[in-house]
Amino acid sequence: MSETIHIYTCPICDNSETEPLLTCKDNFATDEEFNLCKCSKCGFGFTQDFPSEKEIGRYYESPDYISHTDTNKGIINWLYHQARKIALKSKSKIVLKYAAIKTGSLIDIGCGTGYFLNHMKRMKWIVTGIEQSEPVRRIAKEKFGLNVQDADYLFKIPENKKNVITMWHVLEHMEHLNKVMNQLYKILTDDGIAVIALPNKNSFDAAHYKSSWAAYDVPRHLWHFSPSDLKLLANKHKFDVVAIKPMYFDAFYISMLSEKNKKTFAGSFVGLCKGWIFFLLSLTNTKRCSSLVYILKKQK
Ligand SMILES: [Zn+2]
Repeated sequence: MSETIHIYTCPICDNSETEPLLTCKDNFATDEEFNLCKCSKCGFGFTQDFPSEKEIGRYYESPDYISHTDTNKGIINWLYHQARKIALKSKSKIVLKYAAIKTGSLIDIGCGTGYFLNHMKRMKWIVTGIEQSEPVRRIAKEKFGLNVQDADYLFKIPENKKNVITMWHVLEHMEHLNKVMNQLYKILTDDGIAVIALPNKNSFDAAHYKSSWAAYDVPRHLWHFSPSDLKLLANKHKFDVVAIKPMYFDAFYISMLSEKNKKTFAGSFVGLCKGWIFFLLSLTNTKRCSSLVYILKKQK
């Protein structure tokens, strides 16, 4: 019997009543099923009985895990890599706009192979990465010569040190949500920003795909956020959400993966077409975009 974590109280509001939401399959590594629940009080979503930190490694073991690798096979991967180039520019634009400084000290938590860090380094930022996978850390070091540390490093950083903390689709993977949020507050300078990108469970594509929505990504995604969930979590840790920005590309990528989960004939094409619809819809209401970037500042 493997070791799992059962959520008894909501990590955001401490309420102890939960409701079942959906049952989702691990379409990536194991085909195992997991239940999603939500807090009956604040509505925060989570994967119930998820594997502990010790056990979860095997759920990441697949050559297809493109967030962490550099393969270039298949149309989904190709689009992913093209989109990444554009995404790098929009990410740095967000950082420069909201940090309101031209250079500074930046830490990217869950930096993967280091594309974003390298992009910022070329813009004269002092950059550090955190990545828990040793082989992925090695790629980042060899490919870009980056300073990339293991997961424990987050808790060794002195207080008031970082002008910018970025977490691109990472917080939803982290078991110790409150501990991490506390630490973000400590290491950030008083005028600094934390930039947190998350899938949006209130998105048009989530509503359409239900349990096949690829961004539930159980059991790797432990937490399932809406904009109001993230705001509650931020406020709990004395942060204000100063801005929310849409990540338009994710609607295409997630729709294509979701169609693949549903084993739709010509799923990539169908997903691409639906991605356009969700993209156009999200222009009318950005808070229903597939993924959102939240910019947090310390409360004054
Ligand atoms: Zn709650």
